[in-house]
Amino acid sequence: MKNIKKFGINTICAHVGEVKDEQFKGAVSPIYMSTSYAFEGVDIKRYPRYFNTPNQEMLCKKIAALEKTDSAMIFGSGMAAVSTALLAFLQKGDHIILQQTLYGGTYNFVVEEFEKFGIEYSFTKSLSIKDFEKEIKKNTKVIYIETPSNPLLTITDMKAVSKLAKAKGIVTMIDNTFATPINQTPIDFGIDIIIHSATKYMGGHSDILAGAVAASEEHILRIWNIGKNLGGSLSDFTVWMLERSLKTLNLRVRQQNKNALKMAKYLAVNPNVYHVYYPGLKGHTDYKLAKKQMKNFGGMLSFELKEGIDAMEFQNHLKLIKPSMSLAGVESTMLSPTQTSHSLLSSEERAKQGIKDGLIRFSVGIEETKDLIADIEQAIKKCNK
Ligand SMILES: *Cc1c(COP(=O)(O)O)cnc(C)c1O
Repeated sequence: MKNIKKFGINTICAHVGEVKDEQFKGAVSPIYMSTSYAFEGVDIKRYPRYFNTPNQEMLCKKIAALEKTDSAMIFGSGMAAVSTALLAFLQKGDHIILQQTLYGGTYNFVVEEFEKFGIEYSFTKSLSIKDFEKEIKKNTKVIYIETPSNPLLTITDMKAVSKLAKAKGIVTMIDNTFATPINQTPIDFGIDIIIHSATKYMGGHSDILAGAVAASEEHILRIWNIGKNLGGSLSDFTVWMLERSLKTLNLRVRQQNKNALKMAKYLAVNPNVYHVYYPGLKGHTDYKLAKKQMKNFGGMLSFELKEGIDAMEFQNHLKLIKPSMSLAGVESTMLSPTQTSHSLLSSEERAKQGIKDGLIRFSVGIEETKDLIADIEQAIKKCNK
């Protein structure tokens, strides 16, 4: 397809990156499960671990089109994407700056593994650009951000970070999982490497584990070179599932955006709720910045119930909204970060990040908001008895 760059978002979702069914003219991509391909008379040596089976190769085009980059790669998990991208740009003696609030798995990867590779790291004290600048050293090679962050939905200024990094020849990486390319395209703000846990919104149905990286051809080649050695590629059946899921990415995420804003507004005036964290609320500390760099505010929010209502008891009383470790499915889910995503951090480390024990993270699905509100109302009523 030649006009990819001109296509609107739903056309990209529905069409870009299909594998043509030349033999039977079926409407959807056939799945190539082969792990063995001819090597004579072909210009690409295909092998699943080289990230280049027909389904892998074509899906990368869809992801690159969504993120408006020249190239992309897909992985067996979000953490395979994160770890492979980081190790591609860091070696012994290098230094990386990471923002203070990060996805728990990424944080664990850095603090548990980097020392043995001889890679130095610093976490910023806050998300202000001054605090990024303060951490820069002579050997800083990468700045890594995540915006909106998990679970408090704080916003990092992408343009300021990329400007700071470019001036010093530092590569920038972003975890764009929460925003999705529907709500935020970091390449427009100068960020070099865009990472996704495709397990979340890209997959969107809580049934596949996958990761993705989008970047320039040069950067993707560098990630590919180490990626084939680390071996984190995705099975072709899952590739096919992900292609199918992405066809409705825009439709799903738009509904989730709408629902999350409605739910945030409802919770913000609920007398049983102490505080709501959603970048689309005018009262959110980063509202202005979010408005500047996001097209919409996403399907994730967090809230604290007022004192006296136990967060776990509240979640146990929910009937429609499922308690869940993960997020971003078409069904609404909630979790307590203290018990799950941030359970490996000490309570001091959590407090430093502003994560209170009563905090609940809410992944808003595509349901009717009146039904979600009714579910929350009945659960609060039971807690208040
Ligand atoms: C889930 C998640 C990851 C890790 O992805 P996996 O697919 O679980 O490996 C990374 N970043 C964010 C923001 C996530 O939510």
